[in-house]
Amino acid sequence: MTIRKKTALITGITGQDGAFLAKLLVEREYRVVGVSRNCGPSHRTGLRYAGIDDGVELRSVDLADARCVTDLISELSPDEVYNLAADSSVANSFAEPRRVFEFNSLSVLNLLEAIRTVRPTARFYQASSSEMFAGSPVRPIVPELRLAPLSPYACSKAAGHQLTAMYRDCYGIFAVGGILFNHESILRSESYFVKKVIRSAIRIRDGAQDSMTLGNLDVRRDIGLAERYVEAMWLMLQQTDPRNYVICSGVSVRLREVVDLVLRRLQLSGDVVCSQRTNLRPTDAADIYGDPHPARAELGWQYALHPLEAIDWLLDEEIGLPKKQIIG
Ligand code: NAP
Repeated sequence: MTIRKKTALITGITGQDGAFLAKLLVEREYRVVGVSRNCGPSHRTGLRYAGIDDGVELRSVDLADARCVTDLISELSPDEVYNLAADSSVANSFAEPRRVFEFNSLSVLNLLEAIRTVRPTARFYQASSSEMFAGSPVRPIVPELRLAPLSPYACSKAAGHQLTAMYRDCYGIFAVGGILFNHESILRSESYFVKKVIRSAIRIRDGAQDSMTLGNLDVRRDIGLAERYVEAMWLMLQQTDPRNYVICSGVSVRLREVVDLVLRRLQLSGDVVCSQRTNLRPTDAADIYGDPHPARAELGWQYALHPLEAIDWLLDEEIGLPKKQIIG
């Protein structure tokens, strides 16, 4: 008798988290199907890095097209759906609010509606964001807090998060939102702070660049490692009851501490950093961190790395030192 493999559908599989999650699921013997807007070789860098380019199937589907999404869910009959596709830049969302809001919310609705109509037993993970709580006066962030988004991106994620809860509460679908705090890896693009600091500092050290221009370094952020955060996504879909969880380290650090650590390790002076007001966002939380205890206690998610340890680990990889085992 052949045992049917579980099928997982990952949207946004070509992104940072998509590659690490796909690797985890391939290792757990899932059939993994990924959705991308472009299945060409240039979009497979992350999958190649994860060593699973041959182990996953890719489909080019427009998640904003309800019919295409329903056809895909109907054809695959997935057991688990991980919705990671999003225009994930807060900065972009101020520049193009309509496009970001429309895609990030409509794609969630299309997936949930397809699950409801053709595959109601599928379990659904929505990549929600700590940005949904940026304007909340309460710290640490827990899922029960009132949403308080401060950017078009955060509003789009809040809409997706609420839709996920609505399909769970009204239709009984196993649908959950993982409230992710900043998490990084070598696969991050340089449009994000940590990667920009690390890559710029390496170029400055190598004489290929003179300085780096950064925004407000006094804000505090809770930062972790992407390849460990995807474990929590999978764990959330293996539970008996569908619940939202905050996925974070539980500690925030000043962005200036991140810069200082990177410069110190590369033996560079602080003079290479220039501050530019145009990098400042219209609104920004001064300090944000979450409470990872429920994820640790109830999901058994074993993550306890301090943000600066995570930066140290990322820097090692970027400068070509052997990867240390992540303990914690
Ligand atoms: P990412 O690297 O930016 O990947 C997201 C993927 O979504 C992209 O590779 C892209 O794939 C697809 N995508 C982007 N814009 C799209 C659009 N307009 N239409 C269709 N597809 C689009 O993101 P990530 O860092 O892996 O994050 C995964 C998810 O977690 C995202 O939903 C993000 O918002 C959320 N999140 C991330 C963090 C973080 O710190 N990384 C924190 C909180 C929440 P294709 O180009 O192949 O279509």
